[in-house]
Amino acid sequence: MITYYGYTDGSGAFYVVINSDKCNGCRNCIKQCPKNLLQIASIFIDLDDKPVVAIKPEHCNNIKYLCAQCNPKQNQTPCITSCPTKAIKCISEPTNKNNHNNP
Ligand code: SF4
Ligand code: SF4
Repeated sequence: MITYYGYTDGSGAFYVVINSDKCNGCRNCIKQCPKNLLQIASIFIDLDDKPVVAIKPEHCNNIKYLCAQCNPKQNQTPCITSCPTKAIKCISEPTNKNNHNNP
């Protein structure tokens, strides 16, 4: 299951995207996040609860600003580079005249 945390507004789109099929719950990204935005949450898949990483609910509406210091456009943020399974990525697309959403 792919979960998008974030939003699109007048200045563009920003999402942290987590693939729960790839996430093994290792917590590397949680330890490396400089803003402490991440936590383990339990999601229900195939009749089982699976612990996977998630954005803390209180940060879902402002992660664009909190994640800015990690320079997510480069896709080299601490959460991304610390993940052994490529389960997490960022989508950062400022609005411009040729803007195309391509999650
Ligand atoms: S981009 Fe930076 S601040 Fe945002 S979740 Fe990843 S490590 Fe944390
Ligand atoms: S580093 Fe990757 S595999 Fe580990 S908890 Fe974070 S998203 Fe999941």
